Amino acid sequence: MSKSFDVVVIGAGTGGYVAAIRASQLGKTVAVVEKQSALGGTCLIWGCIPTKALLEHAHALKVIQQASEWGVTIPSGTPAINMTQVHARKDKIVDGLTKGIAFLFKKNKITWIKGTARLAGPGKVEVFEGDTQTLEAKEIVIATGSSPRSVPAVTIDHRRIITSDEAIHLKEVPKSLVIMGSGAVGVEFASIYRRFGSEVTIIELVNRLVPVEDEAVSTELEKSFKKQGITVLTGTKVAKATSTPSGVTVEAHTPDGKTHTISADVLLVATGRGPVTTGLGAEEAGIKMERGYIKVDEFYRTSVPGVSAIGDVITLGTGVHPQLAHVSSMEGIITAERIAGKAVQPINYDHVPGCTYCDPEIGSVGLTEARASERGYDVRIGTFPFGVLGRARMAGELEGFVKIVADRKYDEVLGVHMIGPRSTELVAEAVLALRLECTVEELIKTIHAHPTFSEAVGEAAHAAHGAAIHM
Ligand SMILES: Cc1cc2nc3c(=O)[nH]c(=O)nc-3n(C[C@H](O)[C@H](O)[C@H](O)COP(=O)(O)OP(=O)(O)OC[C@H]3O[C@@H](n4cnc5c(N)ncnc54)[C@H](O)[C@@H]3O)c2cc1C
Repeated sequence: MSKSFDVVVIGAGTGGYVAAIRASQLGKTVAVVEKQSALGGTCLIWGCIPTKALLEHAHALKVIQQASEWGVTIPSGTPAINMTQVHARKDKIVDGLTKGIAFLFKKNKITWIKGTARLAGPGKVEVFEGDTQTLEAKEIVIATGSSPRSVPAVTIDHRRIITSDEAIHLKEVPKSLVIMGSGAVGVEFASIYRRFGSEVTIIELVNRLVPVEDEAVSTELEKSFKKQGITVLTGTKVAKATSTPSGVTVEAHTPDGKTHTISADVLLVATGRGPVTTGLGAEEAGIKMERGYIKVDEFYRTSVPGVSAIGDVITLGTGVHPQLAHVSSMEGIITAERIAGKAVQPINYDHVPGCTYCDPEIGSVGLTEARASERGYDVRIGTFPFGVLGRARMAGELEGFVKIVADRKYDEVLGVHMIGPRSTELVAEAVLALRLECTVEELIKTIHAHPTFSEAVGEAAHAAHGAAIHM
């Protein structure tokens, strides 16, 4: 086997494996170093795929629980979830998809080198796995991703105080679950385990759920979560968490200045993820870092020539970099194309869709109403509720709305925020609208098929011009 490659990628997550495939498609010889025994990284093994599989199980249970409404007769007994079967199905999906990446590597003649990589001087990568081997590379792409992190007051013991890595594998449904953090990971697990039967309490430091979303979306989600029996504590700080033989005790300060002690079976810490760079030798190689992240420019070049970095491990030094699978993949494609000498354009991070698969789902892209106002736009809003649509009524999914944020002066669509059925799919139209700098008028003139959920997007556009048809 040759030890010399045009491109060596470190990490086979959605950033690294996509960069490798694109580089190979463009004629480069490529090796990927991955320390796990399967390809696909966080997204396939611990993140997007297993969580969405669990959410599909939760949705199946929801439909079955509402069987009588659907005219379906179920023999006596209460529908319940069988976690052994749930995990077997979920693991089969993960296994199939990770093997799919291995197949794509073979198809694209990409060499997978199993082991832990370390930068070892200009154009050199050392790989440890039993022995040490040194690879030579004209270009190195770091895609080592992220891992869960806690806050100083809470120590993760992986048993009672857990992260998402453990939450996807719980053998039994906890009777009670406290979730710290209400970003995408926190609210998705709240939906999964509430539907499976846990008593769920969600604690969020900021004064609303899903704080990156438009405020109206946060309000709607809180309303729905409360209706589902989830306890929501916003503006609340976890001061201490202690594991006991039978569970966990959480001390939390609420906005009224009181301290509450909450006992539960499990505490899930969903307070964000930090970069994976330990042992990588990035600083020793002279790469500029910021808060542990690898600093890159708009084309993902680090401060060291010939070394690029993409995905969850990077910072662009311009605020928060979204830690999302589709972002890492697009950064991988741009990096591979730049390395291959193609003309590339920087990503417009305002056009990155955010999908949160809680119940009800959230899909959003572009500026929130508040951010558009902060940027000085004369903002106009159009909102349309899903509950009015025939399609939503047939599905029995009446919650939520589509909200369009537009600029009054040029009529440009600045942001689209939706919560409700199929929002994670419907947002695709909005992403294209923003990419093409679409006006509200153009959305109004775009024919939306009937009866579909997508009619809510067209109607929200009508509403932004003050004239929704069905409201
Ligand atoms: C519970 C959960 C749910 C999520 N759901 C979604 C979702 O629905 N949609 C979405 O877009 N995003 C989701 N994400 C985020 C998404 O998973 C990440 O943004 C994405 O995986 C980042 O890809 P990456 O390639 O940068 O890094 P990663 O996927 O983390 O991959 C990095 C890889 O590098 C390997 N590695 C690290 N160091 C070394 C080394 N020194 N040598 C060799 N190999 C190394 C690791 O083993 C890993 O395989 C979710 C995350 C979590 C935790």
